[in-house]
Amino acid sequence: MPPSLSLTHDPASAGGTRAAIRVLPPLVVNQIAAGEVVERPASVVKELVDNAIDAGATRITVEIEQGGIELIRVTDDGAGIPADQLTLAIAPHATSKIRHADELDAIATMGFRGEALASIASVSRMMIRSRTAEDAGATRLEIAGDDLSALRPEAGPVGTCITVRNLFFNTPARLRFLRTPQTEQGHCVDIVENLALAHPAIAFAFLADGRTMFDLPPDQSPVERALAVVGGEMREQYLEAAADQFDDARGLTLWGLVGLPGLARQTTRWQHIFVNGRPIRDKTIAHALKEAYRGLIEPGRHPAAVLMIEMSPSAVDVNVHPAKAEVRFRDSSLVHRVVMRAVREALQRADLTPDAGATGFGASSGLRFDTSIERKPQEAEPRQRLVDYLKQFAPSEDEPSPVNFDELRAAVEAEEKRLDDDRRRLEEERRFLAQQQADPDNAAAIARGAPASRILQIHDSYLVTQDEHGVVIIDQHALHERVMFEKLAARLAEHGSLESQRLLVPATASATPKQIELLDSMSALFAKLGIECVGAGPTSIAVHAFPTLLFDRNVDPGAFMRELLDRAERDDLPDSTEGALHEVLDMMSCKAAVKAGDRLSETELDELIAMRDRVERSSRCPHGRPTTIRVSLRELEKQFGRS
Ligand code: ADP
Ligand code: MG
Repeated sequence: MPPSLSLTHDPASAGGTRAAIRVLPPLVVNQIAAGEVVERPASVVKELVDNAIDAGATRITVEIEQGGIELIRVTDDGAGIPADQLTLAIAPHATSKIRHADELDAIATMGFRGEALASIASVSRMMIRSRTAEDAGATRLEIAGDDLSALRPEAGPVGTCITVRNLFFNTPARLRFLRTPQTEQGHCVDIVENLALAHPAIAFAFLADGRTMFDLPPDQSPVERALAVVGGEMREQYLEAAADQFDDARGLTLWGLVGLPGLARQTTRWQHIFVNGRPIRDKTIAHALKEAYRGLIEPGRHPAAVLMIEMSPSAVDVNVHPAKAEVRFRDSSLVHRVVMRAVREALQRADLTPDAGATGFGASSGLRFDTSIERKPQEAEPRQRLVDYLKQFAPSEDEPSPVNFDELRAAVEAEEKRLDDDRRRLEEERRFLAQQQADPDNAAAIARGAPASRILQIHDSYLVTQDEHGVVIIDQHALHERVMFEKLAARLAEHGSLESQRLLVPATASATPKQIELLDSMSALFAKLGIECVGAGPTSIAVHAFPTLLFDRNVDPGAFMRELLDRAERDDLPDSTEGALHEVLDMMSCKAAVKAGDRLSETELDELIAMRDRVERSSRCPHGRPTTIRVSLRELEKQFGRS
């Protein structure tokens, strides 16, 4: 036991070696409190902006230098602090926001513990300039550690401007924990983005080292603000998610933007989650989001999302940790359910086939068969003029020309014929399209997938067909894998286990003694999968039964089991039975699926395309890679210069 922890029970230490108990000086108390509230420049930014919001500001400007380590300045046009209260504002536990403990539950302001300014002032050089509407001018106060300047009058508009320089200058241990200015700046941007999202009525400007990072106008709707923050040009990459739910007593509403699977990132930086306007991090919500995207994004990635959740303040405890933005829900399973459902619905409504055209937020209904599109008459006129022009140079007997006019004329004629053909084809296409539109059955047939005769297999790996939006290119392996996965999962859900085929002659494979030992612990998993596998000697296993679906697809039981046991031995399978099951279904569908390079018969092509429409989430393989890419008609027109 270290000496500082040994109390008076130890007679050897009772003789005065122990330090006496002392009340800590206020500066140290504040610095300790700062450890909780002020972790890095971004936390200072958050506290200062929170205060500006609480003061009713309509415009907030945040400036930082060197990631906020050198300087943070937050300027607002809020109510200001009366001159006679400036000194009090930086005293610990001084707040204008609550008076009684019973106000804690229904607190509406951003911060209320009255320790932010005191904490920040204790670990930086701070300057406050503030003016209320009643004051004739502003007042300025400077604080550095323990040192308070006298109040000084100064010119300045109504509102408050707080400058924080040299953060942690007097607590070098904390200074050492800061990252590079770029990283710290990134955190500051995150914080201000979050606050701007939560307060669309307030104008926010953010400057880093003199450069404007964003400048958001006031009075935006939540939708406008969200789109402005994610970036105007990104709007097509987002879908709108909403839920107005459910049980009145525990009322909960949700609104948000969720990114297309392609926007998923390796970090959660593109996730902005709010509860009652407060940016939070919450495992329940993060999990629900991820669940909603399951199968659409690769497992290590996080979907991009802006989610605004509103609920009764008494249904959520926001004060679990003042700095970490954690909350505790009274009913976290309700929150999980609502988030997952709303996001999943948004994803299901959308057509997630990657597309050069628009599928995201704000997308039109897409390019349907629009016969009203007038196509250009293909520059027939200039070409005709060229023919006329060439006629002038018709060869004369006595003057041999260096130009072979016969060849040239032939070329021009060929070009004319091509043009004619083009025009005819266009005409046919237009008639066909008009007919399609007039005939709903026909249009529906095309929407379901083209008939087999119109599916083309290229390089024995990709299928090319059409749907109502354009040309569809399918990765045959990825699609089949998804189809097999859904089939296996459906059977499992329906019967509790996979249908199994007994092998007349058991399949054998080599195995390590450790793998043979593992067989026992995997018996529950095997039972669900329809696998019967036992040790057959010290270094081999025997497979007696195997899932019918895999058997029918000629998957080699011995090889499959060896791979599965290799993974189990490497500890490369999730611990939960459900997780492991998901992984093994993945493996099974990969093995059972047609491979790139497999020539498919017409019937197989037909079946695969038909299954595509029946299977949920067919646009992505189980690993989240796309199965299908679409080149929209609009994109084709653009590429061919027709629009
Ligand atoms: P809290 O926000 O928890 O009350 P702070 O230490 O953050 O504690 O702020 C202390 C007090 O200073 C606030 O209660 C408020 O009265 C005043 N204050 C701080 N910042 C501002 C500001 N930007 N505009 C007006 N008043 C402010
Ligand atoms: Mg505060």
